[in-house]
Amino acid sequence: MCFCKNNPSAAPFGCQLVHYADGDREIPVASVVARLKTRNPGPSDHDGVEIDCPKCGERHKHGWGAGPRTPHCKPENRTPGDYYIPEISDVAIKYRK
Ligand SMILES: [Zn+2]
Ligand SMILES: [Zn+2]
Repeated sequence: MCFCKNNPSAAPFGCQLVHYADGDREIPVASVVARLKTRNPGPSDHDGVEIDCPKCGERHKHGWGAGPRTPHCKPENRTPGDYYIPEISDVAIKYRK
């Protein structure tokens, strides 16, 4: 049974089927909170994404873009498997300090 059916409150957006090299897996979809931008970005600055983690409930940051990611949970809260960052166009912009 997939993660979202066992943890409906932690994964309100359900799961996404992902094709891994060793087979297909359904992984929980993360809730996107904001797109992170740098004011006056240089060539090495990339947008980021802030998500509410379906696995530990905390907020994590990743590079911007949809796809499966390795969760950034604290070691003591870490559970096996990835989560999925969905394609989102309409999201709050947050500037990094
Ligand atoms: Zn599911
Ligand atoms: Zn987490």
